[in-house]
Amino acid sequence: MKIQALETYTPHYQSNSPLIIAGPCSAESRQQVLETAEQIQKHTSANIFRAGIWKPRSRPGSFEGIGEEGLKWLQEVQQTTGMMTATEVAHPHHIELALKYGVNILWIGARTTSNPFSVQEIAESIKGVDIPVFIKNPINPDVSLWIGAIERILNTGNTKVAAIHRGFYPYEETKFRNIPKWEIPIEVKRNYPELPIICDPSHISGNVDYIQDICQKALDLNFDGLMIETHIHPKEALSDAQQQVTPEVLRNILNQLTVRNSNELTDELQQYREQIDSIDQQLLEMLAQRMDVIKRIGEYKRGRNITILQLRRWENIIKTRTLFGQKTGLDKDFVNDILQLIHKESIKEQNRIMNKLQ
Ligand code: PEP
Ligand code: MN
Repeated sequence: MKIQALETYTPHYQSNSPLIIAGPCSAESRQQVLETAEQIQKHTSANIFRAGIWKPRSRPGSFEGIGEEGLKWLQEVQQTTGMMTATEVAHPHHIELALKYGVNILWIGARTTSNPFSVQEIAESIKGVDIPVFIKNPINPDVSLWIGAIERILNTGNTKVAAIHRGFYPYEETKFRNIPKWEIPIEVKRNYPELPIICDPSHISGNVDYIQDICQKALDLNFDGLMIETHIHPKEALSDAQQQVTPEVLRNILNQLTVRNSNELTDELQQYREQIDSIDQQLLEMLAQRMDVIKRIGEYKRGRNITILQLRRWENIIKTRTLFGQKTGLDKDFVNDILQLIHKESIKEQNRIMNKLQ
């Protein structure tokens, strides 16, 4: 069973340019939805209008979506702009209502993808329904969980399936709201080469500053589309206010993008290289974080006049890390060499702090 290419079910879209999905994080009012859609259509060539009708919020009491009423506004958007519409569904009841009001594309949100029970329930309720389903990555960087959700939908016989990459919860400190970890969508694509992948730079970035760069990176990696949160008055948005752009800004972002020739980039070797690039970047970020902690230790030791080298601690580091390294399949000498190198640099840094060298 072959996954269908996006152009087979999205009119006006051609695969030599990215599929553009734009619209607010949430549908808030009829006016907000219709004006945003009208401006998107006026300024850009976006193909699909998105709006959340039911919003998964971390804490109760914040805006949890307008509900059924908003689906009527999406119908109006279809009529007035001709754009297709898309919304998030997390429950069979959402699907029933979305179908009742003729939503064109459903997407499964990151929190829902994290739960196989929910995905299975959704799969069972769309069985036999001819509607595209886009699956966001789960919150945690688990390739199997994401692929598993995609397979649960594919198993229903639905071939209009695509993945949406929206980044992963950052356990480490990072400038992003959600770490892109590009190697993960690339790995999904390696498993399902014909699966379209759409990037959602808005939820990766968490603010408007990095959207342009993330979009370009996605295109450089041969992603098939972009989903960008767009609001007529971002500052007044009831959810995700910091990351939404106006339709004019969306136009500028799209105009500045360079669409590259994809032939070379689909090459398997190139995909592996992209994975390596992303992993190396994370390795270096982690090393920089380690060095920040080392600096704090240096200050602490200087304040209390403690020696830099604590032999027992160092022996313990070598022992535990070598053991852990072996468990992951790494060569013992290799782990040892890396640790020695890191330790040497740490001692140097602490020495600099201890002796107030520049
Ligand atoms: C959204 O698209 O507004 C949303 C809630 O996204 P995610 O599921 O990626 O957090
Ligand atoms: Mn959002």
